[in-house]
Amino acid sequence: MMYKTIVEGTTKVLVPVPPQDAAFPPSAAPVFYNPEMELNRDINVAVTAAFVKRLLSRKELLREEIRYVDAFSASGIRGLRIAGEVGIHATMNDWNSDAFETIKENIKINGLEERTLATRKNANVLLHEQKFHIVDIDPFGTPSPFLDAASASVKNLLSVTATDTAPLCGAHLRAGIRKYAAVPLNTEYHSEMGLRVLLGACARELAKHEKGMLPLISHVTRHYVRTYLKVLPGTKHTDKTLESMGFSIHCPTCGFRGSVYGLAVHIKNDCPVCGSFTQIAGPLWLGPFRERAFCDEVISELEVHPLNTKDKAKKLITFCRDELDIPMFYDQHVICKELGVSATGIETLIEALKAHGFEASRTHFSGTSFRTNAPITEIKKI
Ligand code: SAM
Repeated sequence: MMYKTIVEGTTKVLVPVPPQDAAFPPSAAPVFYNPEMELNRDINVAVTAAFVKRLLSRKELLREEIRYVDAFSASGIRGLRIAGEVGIHATMNDWNSDAFETIKENIKINGLEERTLATRKNANVLLHEQKFHIVDIDPFGTPSPFLDAASASVKNLLSVTATDTAPLCGAHLRAGIRKYAAVPLNTEYHSEMGLRVLLGACARELAKHEKGMLPLISHVTRHYVRTYLKVLPGTKHTDKTLESMGFSIHCPTCGFRGSVYGLAVHIKNDCPVCGSFTQIAGPLWLGPFRERAFCDEVISELEVHPLNTKDKAKKLITFCRDELDIPMFYDQHVICKELGVSATGIETLIEALKAHGFEASRTHFSGTSFRTNAPITEIKKI
């Protein structure tokens, strides 16, 4: 395999050159590198920088004390970028020997020997052996087999990528139930369903270790879900966190949706609007999936770091910031198709909902989706 040098942010990294063969996915290379994840890594730099600023300004830790782990590192790019562009210590771990050698080479290329460490372990072993302030897990597919160890290790921030969107979103129902012990529904808001299933699984794994969580930023982009969770130690925070868990109700006949908060609940199966049988998804995270003030801090970091995907990242985080905190978005095209009318521009619809006295916003999930507190009957009239 040939190698080439690529640059993301201000970090140079040796990565394998994949064969010019469309059937050869990045996961088939001896050392994984996916250029499509640059947006994910750029946002990671900005989020981690904003989070570190908070830790420092609140005098929770000194910069030199902070330990970040990139537990599934491949070429080392994620951890190297944190060490070089955020300026904190990073451990880069991968159990694959080619990856381990590449990480060591990439540390040298960037002159980051003093602020980094390369390890070659099963991520679960490393995370059960050591505590880190910031734990980043970016495995192939599902993070589910690693959430327990990550929850045991993490002290301040847990960053998780999941690329198994089909199980998370309900397209592969049984796989979703197996991995996340939750029932997803494959509806028009399946992308949000996937995010809330993942957040719910993280909340339950952290709870086993008596840690609560507060999602700082989460986004669903193309084929993956990414979330950044502030960790809140102690039983009080844990119990409070679990209050944001619950179940989502969906009526396949009229489009009604509702939320039932709590894990020990009784859910009625008939739709309050049309009386049809409803579908239930859960347990899920029903709380906010981002903190507005933190989104602003991340947007400021995106401004100051040299990033190739800066504009795209700013747009995405701005959309996340401005979404209403009402679970499960609507899709304008689905409703218009059912009504046999043509869709207007999404902004026009949102203005019309507001003009009728309802709250309404766009979402980062898709260009045709919106959130509102208007009941489905009113949405259809408007
Ligand atoms: N974080 C990388 C990036 O941003 O480019 C990509 C990581 S890639 C998706 C997953 C990596 O995890 C692979 O290099 C694989 O060798 C490694 N891996 C898979 N299972 C592992 C395990 N249980 N322990 C340690 N490494 C593992």
